[in-house]
Amino acid sequence: MRLGIIGCGNMGGGMASQLVKNGFDLTCFDPSPQNSGKMAALGATTTTSVGALAKICDVILLSLPKAAVVEAVMAEMLPDIQAGTVILDTSTSEPATSQAMSAKGAEHGFAFVDGPVSGGPAAANAGTMTMLLGGDADAIETLRPVLDILTAKTVTVGGSGAGHAAKIANNMLCAANLVLVGEAIRLGQAAGVSPENLLEGINAGSGRSGVSEVNFPKWVLSDAFDSGFTMGLMRKDVGLALALAQSTDVDLSGFAKIADIWLNASTDISDSDDFNAIVKHNPKDV
Ligand code: NAD
Repeated sequence: MRLGIIGCGNMGGGMASQLVKNGFDLTCFDPSPQNSGKMAALGATTTTSVGALAKICDVILLSLPKAAVVEAVMAEMLPDIQAGTVILDTSTSEPATSQAMSAKGAEHGFAFVDGPVSGGPAAANAGTMTMLLGGDADAIETLRPVLDILTAKTVTVGGSGAGHAAKIANNMLCAANLVLVGEAIRLGQAAGVSPENLLEGINAGSGRSGVSEVNFPKWVLSDAFDSGFTMGLMRKDVGLALALAQSTDVDLSGFAKIADIWLNASTDISDSDDFNAIVKHNPKDV
């Protein structure tokens, strides 16, 4: 297998490190000289264009900021994609983009699988990510040796675009839980319960979530705020949930207030901050 990664930031760089550690012959492309340099230091081959990478790889992973970048990269490398190539898009992208790329693949003889991930850079580095897969079953089987190294768990949720739809729904819940657990802790404190004791109580009860069990102890109460996932990326995902609801005519009025907090009200928190910083937003302080 000749393996390539396009986009070697927090997530793609972590995946690259895990793949090189496990003996994969890896080729990387990233327009940032700093990130490209880090890949060379790992022992990966680097290229100066996505086309040069596509010419020599038969499995290509994408880890890009958003759907528009996925589409631009795909358009640029299309003439160089070899017949039989399997492309796995691990970016948090959009179902319609994956479906369009998969249709292009059917025309040009390559497969395009959506496989967005959870777990953050630490899990990317350790090979313990969770991946939600959408696409052709044979193409997913071709990817299996790579998936075994990169993930602790994969869930195939359906055909092309299904992975992204499921990831958008997951991140919608994560965004909502961060705001709500933050409010619950503020409420408990006002009533005289310490955040640590309140969290222990919630995590023993039915209100617990990934956010109360992982994010709060690891990144919020510790004051670390260093998860490697930014406010800007979560704001993108909140926008993706609203856009998907609009295109599918689904009412998300419960989520709408929380989306407004992420997208409009929290002007006190910048896009480059850690996404857990949303819990610091208190409308009473603004
Ligand atoms: P990042 O900004 O650290 O990395 C993105 C990389 O893409 C950068 O290195 C950038 O130089 C590169 N890039 C930008 N334009 C490019 C182009 N035209 N061609 C090739 N490379 C290009 O972002 P990240 O945190 O690694 O996230 C990547 C994707 O994974 C996003 O879609 C994000 O939503 C998703 N994601 C991130 C996390 C996390 O915890 N960071 C978790 C799950 C999913």
